[in-house]
Amino acid sequence: MRKKKIAAVAAVCAAVAVLAAVIIADSLSSRTHRIDFSAMNTVVSLDIEGFRSQSAVTRISETVSRLDLVMLSRTAHGSEIYKLNSSDKPVVLSEQLTEYLATLKQLEKDSGGAFCISLGALSDLWDLGNGGYLPSQSEIDSALETKDGFSVNGNTASVADGAAVDFGSVGKGIACDSAKKILADAGCKRAIVAVGGSVLLWSKGEESFKIGIRNPLGSANEYAAVLETGDCCVSTSGNYERVFTAQDGKRYHHIFDPSTGYPARSGLQSVTVICESGLMSDALSTACFVLGYEKSLPLLEKYGASAVFITDGNEFITSPSFDGKLTVTDSRFSGGAVK
Ligand code: AMP
Ligand code: MG
Repeated sequence: MRKKKIAAVAAVCAAVAVLAAVIIADSLSSRTHRIDFSAMNTVVSLDIEGFRSQSAVTRISETVSRLDLVMLSRTAHGSEIYKLNSSDKPVVLSEQLTEYLATLKQLEKDSGGAFCISLGALSDLWDLGNGGYLPSQSEIDSALETKDGFSVNGNTASVADGAAVDFGSVGKGIACDSAKKILADAGCKRAIVAVGGSVLLWSKGEESFKIGIRNPLGSANEYAAVLETGDCCVSTSGNYERVFTAQDGKRYHHIFDPSTGYPARSGLQSVTVICESGLMSDALSTACFVLGYEKSLPLLEKYGASAVFITDGNEFITSPSFDGKLTVTDSRFSGGAVK
């Protein structure tokens, strides 16, 4: 009898221990960590849920900051891009940068030159980071000549005097890709990593996410539509970033048409590109903004991407490949195929 009693108590204790383990595991897996910090000249927001989310937050924030300082920044003296732009001799690139540049040079060709990784001198001329400057035609012509002053051959690249490589159109997407690698190893459950206009939506299962598409008629935290999609990278390029009104009364923005040297006017206020790779979603959003709706479609198809366009006429248009759900939330806008 006494033996039976001891066995019963032991069974209850074991059950309580198992229950406690389940409760502890659950509380770990539902733990969420959020931080905002500055890197790549923008705000980076991490929202990570699940086991080891705290260490994933720490590793991602360190990695994104390092990526900028060690590789992509145009102004940090130790970065690879800074050294490349300031060298008067050919430079041997890291394996990673060689890979990025091969991909981006291919995109330059595929986009018919709408995307250009060596527009740094033109961006500097317009000086949009410091309030803006309306250049003369001859200044624009000279800056445009420099875009051909960059060449890359395998892992060796040269930048001619006056020319500059500029990763401003792709760095944020690259940061999303590096976050994705960390999340895959970390054991987290779900994450949203926003690096300026590029956002990584990541989950261990097949989760669904809802994010806002910035309202071109509103301020930075207002949205005009809600996009519902599964795991992917989403990048938006819009004519509301880095804008200035010049003495001629016109507004100028930061995405340049390499065929004119002026801010692109392709009938769009913004393009949001959705695909697996952060690098590609970011590069394509810039390219598609320059190309406009019609000319973007073959490019999106080639890269297995889809897009949501907002036209100058406040209309939402999705590419035929778009298979998410889009709900327009501002009545000033029309369209937006709801699937
Ligand atoms: P995003 O906001 O991703 O479209 O990137 C815009 C940034 O990319 C600008 O601030 C410039 O630094 C750079 N940029 C501007 N025009 C182009 C272009 N046609 N191709 C590649 N980079 C560009
Ligand atoms: Mg971009």
